[in-house]
Amino acid sequence: MYKHPLIDRDKMTPAEALDILIEGNHRFINNYSVEKDFQSLLRITRDKQHPFASFLSCSDSRAPVELVFDQALGDIFSVRLAGNIASDKAVGSLEFSSKYLGSKLIVVMGHTSCGAVKAACDDFKDGHIGEIINLIKPSIRHEKTIAAEQRNSKNPDFVEKINALNVKYQIDSIIRMSDIIADMIESREIGIIGGIYDLETGKVKFLEDTLKV
Ligand SMILES: [Zn+2]
Repeated sequence: MYKHPLIDRDKMTPAEALDILIEGNHRFINNYSVEKDFQSLLRITRDKQHPFASFLSCSDSRAPVELVFDQALGDIFSVRLAGNIASDKAVGSLEFSSKYLGSKLIVVMGHTSCGAVKAACDDFKDGHIGEIINLIKPSIRHEKTIAAEQRNSKNPDFVEKINALNVKYQIDSIIRMSDIIADMIESREIGIIGGIYDLETGKVKFLEDTLKV
C-alpha cells in the first residue's frame, strides 16, 4: 500500500508517481477516498514539504487537483493558472518543486470545456485576460483541420482539439524555457506528462504521446 511521500518519496520513480495519480483518480471517480489523518499530516509536514508530483493546471473551481487525485497535505505542488499556461512564473515554480523539493513528475493538466481555451478560440480580450489568451493562441495556429467558419468556442470539437494541443504546447514551452527541467527530464530524475480532466466523468485522460519518463 502506498505510504505518505514524506516516508518513501525519495525512492519513487516518475513512473511510480504517475501510477499513484492514476490510482487516486480511480478512487475519486468511484467515490472512494483513503482515510487521511490531517492532524498527523500537519505535524509531519510542518517543517518541510516533500511533494511527489507537480501540477500546472487550470484555476477552474471544478478541477481541484488534490481532490480529483485523492491526495493529501504535502503530496502535490500545485501551480494553477487559467488555461494551465506556462508563464515564466509558472515555470519558475515548477523548477523550484522539481530541483529543490524533489518532486518526481510534472503534470500539465487541462480540462474539458475550459473557459480560458474557449476565450482563446474567440480571441477574447479584456483587462489582463488577453495576456493569458496570448499564451494559448499558438495552439490555435497548430490546429489545421477545422474550417475557418467553425473555428470558435461554439464548436465543441474545435475547443477540445485546441484543449489537447494547448496541453502539448505548454509542455513544449516548459521544456523550451527551462534548462533545469529539460536537463532533469533528460537525466530521468523527473518525468513530464499531459492530461485532460473530464468535468462530466471526473476521469483524467493522460496523453500518452506527451509522456517523458
Ligand atoms: Zn479552465
